[in-house]
Amino acid sequence: MFEVKEIRETALGENPVIERMSKYNHEQLLFCNDNETGLKAILAVHNTTLGPALGGTRMWNYNNELEALNDVLRLSRGMTYKNSISGLNLGGGKAVIIGDARKQKSEALFRRFGKFVESLGGKYITAEDVGISPQDMTWVNMETNHVVGLPGKSGDPSPVTAYGVYMGMKAAAKVQFGTDSLNGKKVAVQGVGHVGEYLVSHLAKEGAQVYISDIHEDTLKRVAEQYGATVVGLDDIYTVDMDIYAPCALGATVNDTTLGQLNCSIIAGAANNQLADETVHGEIVKDKGIIYVPDFMLNAGGVINCYAEVKGLSAEWAMGKAEEIYNTTLNILDRSSSENIPTYKIANAMAEERIDAIGKVKLPM
Ligand code: NAD
Repeated sequence: MFEVKEIRETALGENPVIERMSKYNHEQLLFCNDNETGLKAILAVHNTTLGPALGGTRMWNYNNELEALNDVLRLSRGMTYKNSISGLNLGGGKAVIIGDARKQKSEALFRRFGKFVESLGGKYITAEDVGISPQDMTWVNMETNHVVGLPGKSGDPSPVTAYGVYMGMKAAAKVQFGTDSLNGKKVAVQGVGHVGEYLVSHLAKEGAQVYISDIHEDTLKRVAEQYGATVVGLDDIYTVDMDIYAPCALGATVNDTTLGQLNCSIIAGAANNQLADETVHGEIVKDKGIIYVPDFMLNAGGVINCYAEVKGLSAEWAMGKAEEIYNTTLNILDRSSSENIPTYKIANAMAEERIDAIGKVKLPM
């Protein structure tokens, strides 16, 4: 039975690594060190029931190794759920490189990292994540073919991600407002970077009234002018009069403070881990009558795009698959309402159910 216990921070036990792996039910961790290049990395394979574990590599200046370990465990588990609920034949994995992405990058470091990815023999497929550029991945690719998202291949996943978010948002509108038209709806988009800007373009085309915030004034000005969006302050994005809140910048923006401010009927955005604590805030949004569209399902367009590259499928296939997020959202909302259970729990259960079911199909005859 596929089962993941609740993730909670615990004190270090006598055997902290295995203990943590068992808590998250991880299959494998690979700790990588190379004194010559300065590479310090952890590769995590969470679950490969559905297929090879796919998830990006993050380079981050972690305060300590435990922080890096917790991050890679949490992120790789998230990939298992995202890939499963999206109907992909992929498991969940992730890698973290411990270091300063502005100072410690080199061809040698990434090629050494590539050798570690290769050593897993295809059980883990990597891609770009925070702190990693296409050039870095080109170096990784010199040592392993288990890389996706390379320049000239499937390309920037953001348009596919934004399209999936837009589709899920429309499905939520259908349930909440009785129509999936966003014409005239007030949508607050926090962060107009890669995904946020594409989302704003879909919304503007449909006649939504769009409010935007970002820490970069120049980006804000350009996006506001191009799509006729209204600029609001960084904190005002939570209090502006809105129907839909679309977090497309940071995680944990649905928290104790903002839940007292957000006057919306739907939360649907691209950011990962939007609920500061899903067990707490997932219940509160439900009690308030707000529809929260689970982020890991809604923002799966990026990994769908990677999957297309792995399987040699077309860009059209990826967009079609992202469009299915509309129906998946309807299913989740329907189950949430009929079973009276918060949406995040339904999405987790759906991901686990598929892994259980396919795990049985794959048992030897
Ligand atoms: P990005 O870095 O291009 O854009 C993020 C934007 O948010 C930037 O413009 C940044 O200036 C802005 N920002 C940062 N702090 C802010 C704040 N406090 N208030 C308002 N704006 C702020 O990233 P992206 O690729 O567009 O991804 C957006 C989110 O979606 C991230 O959380 C990412 O993890 C998630 N996501 C992205 C993809 C993808 O395909 N790119 C896929 C899945 C999930």
